[in-house]
Amino acid sequence: MEKKSILIVEDDKYIINFISIALKKEGYGYYVAKSVEEALSLFYANQPDLIILDLGLPDGDGMEVIKSVRALSDIPMIVVSARQEEQEKIQSLDAGADDYVTKPFHMGELMARIRVGLRKLNRVRTEERQTIFQTGELMVDYEKRIVTISGNEVHLTPIEYKILLLLIANRGKVLTHNYIIREIWGYAEEIDAGNL
Ligand code: CA
Repeated sequence: MEKKSILIVEDDKYIINFISIALKKEGYGYYVAKSVEEALSLFYANQPDLIILDLGLPDGDGMEVIKSVRALSDIPMIVVSARQEEQEKIQSLDAGADDYVTKPFHMGELMARIRVGLRKLNRVRTEERQTIFQTGELMVDYEKRIVTISGNEVHLTPIEYKILLLLIANRGKVLTHNYIIREIWGYAEEIDAGNL
């Protein structure tokens, strides 16, 4: 399994040290950003797997980071903040954060929440992968409706495409003409396949 990387957005040196040492120990890679600006540029440049962020940053509010990142990505974001107010918590979650940990916190708790976040990320990425079907030389991209064989795009009529999807959905099974006709054209009656 590849090493997961985490972006720490925090301006407090002590907390940066505290978190980064723990991440290293758990085998994660990490980047440190000390401002909103740095957070966004490190996010764009490095595509981390998860973000831990503080709300009170020298050049702005961590909420800006949450909104900007969420507009582009599904990655998990955990707010680690000294702000105790319920309102801050609600706003962060509404803006797209996945979780909220109040300072002071126990490292064990933060690490557990990171694991939860990364499991969620794995689910999201698995779902993304399922929009593509591949077997041998054949590749079907359901989202883009593109079919390729050995990397060359194959142009199918809408009916042909529907038949292909039906065959993929039933792969390993033998389908009768009548079954395919019923599924694709919606006819209920028997049709002589010889006349197609
Ligand atoms: Ca701070």
